Amino acid sequence: MDDVTRTNTGKVLYPATGFTKGEVLDYWERISPVLLPHVRGRPASFKRFPDGVDAEGFFQKNAPRGTPDWVHTVELPSPGSTKGRQTVRYVVVEDARTLMWAANLAVLEIHVPQWRVGPRGGVHDPDLMVFDLDPGAPATVVECCRVALMIRDELAAEGLSAWPKVSGSKGLHVYVPLKPVKGTRATAYARGLAERLVEREPELVVAGMNRSLRGGKVFVDWNQNNPARTTVAPYSLRARREPTVAAPVSWEEVEGCGAPEDLRFLPEDVLARLEKAGDLLEPIAKGDCQTPLPD
Ligand code: ATP
Ligand code: MN
Repeated sequence: MDDVTRTNTGKVLYPATGFTKGEVLDYWERISPVLLPHVRGRPASFKRFPDGVDAEGFFQKNAPRGTPDWVHTVELPSPGSTKGRQTVRYVVVEDARTLMWAANLAVLEIHVPQWRVGPRGGVHDPDLMVFDLDPGAPATVVECCRVALMIRDELAAEGLSAWPKVSGSKGLHVYVPLKPVKGTRATAYARGLAERLVEREPELVVAGMNRSLRGGKVFVDWNQNNPARTTVAPYSLRARREPTVAAPVSWEEVEGCGAPEDLRFLPEDVLARLEKAGDLLEPIAKGDCQTPLPD
C-alpha cells in the first residue's frame, strides 16, 4: 500500500528472532488477501506492541486518536456495559489500506467476534461457533488435536462442518460456520457438546467449572461463544516470543500431529503454505458452508 506511511521499519519487535517491524508490515501486506475476508464486518480489537513483545503491549478496542476518516469505524455498546451506556468506537478492517494503517501502529494481533455488523452498523447474530481448546500442562496442542477430532465427528453426525486453526499460542480453535444464530444458542450448543465429551473422556477433557482441574487435560472453552468475546483472527500474528501465526490447518494435519512443533508456523511458513494450498478456511471466508444449528 503506497499511501500508508511505514515508520520505524528497522525496529526489532521480536527480539528472540530479530523480526523487525518492517517484516511485520510485509507479513500483514502479503497475507492480506486471505486475512481480510475473515475480519471484514467484524469489529476489531487490536493488541499493539510499539516497543516489541518483550515490553508491555496493550489491547485497543477504541479507534485511536488520529484515525484517518477513510477507516471504517462503528460505535457499539461496550461489552462490559449492561445498559449499553458506554460505547466503543471499533475499527472494522475492511481493506488492505486499513490493515496496513493498523499494522504501522505496531498491531501484532487482531481479534474479532463471532458476528458481523451490517453496512449501517447493525449488529448481526453470530455466523460462527467456536470451540477454544486450551491445553493444561503437561498437555499440549497434541491433546487438543485429539479433542478437536472428537468435536469434528460429533458435529459431522449432526450435519455441521468444522474447521481447525492453531491459536498460534498454545492451543487450537475449531470453527463451525452457521446460519446466523443467537449467541446464547451457540453457547448452549457448544456447552452441551463439551459436556458430552467430558462424560466420554473425563481423563482428557474438562469443560466449565472444573477448569482449574485441567492439568494434563484440554479445557473446552464453550463460553467463547458469548457475543462479548473475541477470537484471534485467522492468519493473525501472535505477540509471543517468536512471531507465530494463528494458522488454519487441515484435518489431516490435526490427525497426524505428534508434537507441538508439527503445528507451529512462522510467517514464512504460512506464506509458503498459502502458495501451495490457498486459504484452508476459504469456505468460511466465502460464507458458503453455513448450516443451520440443530435444536
Ligand atoms: P491459547 O492457545 O494460548 O489459549 P488463545 O488465543 O486461544 O491462545 P485464550 O486465552 O484461550 O487465548 O483466549 C481466547 C480468545 O479470547 C483470544 O484469542 C482472544 O481473542 C480473547 N481474549 C483472551 N484474553 C483476552 C483479553 N485479556 N482481552 C481481550 N480478549 C481476550
Ligand atoms: Mn485458547
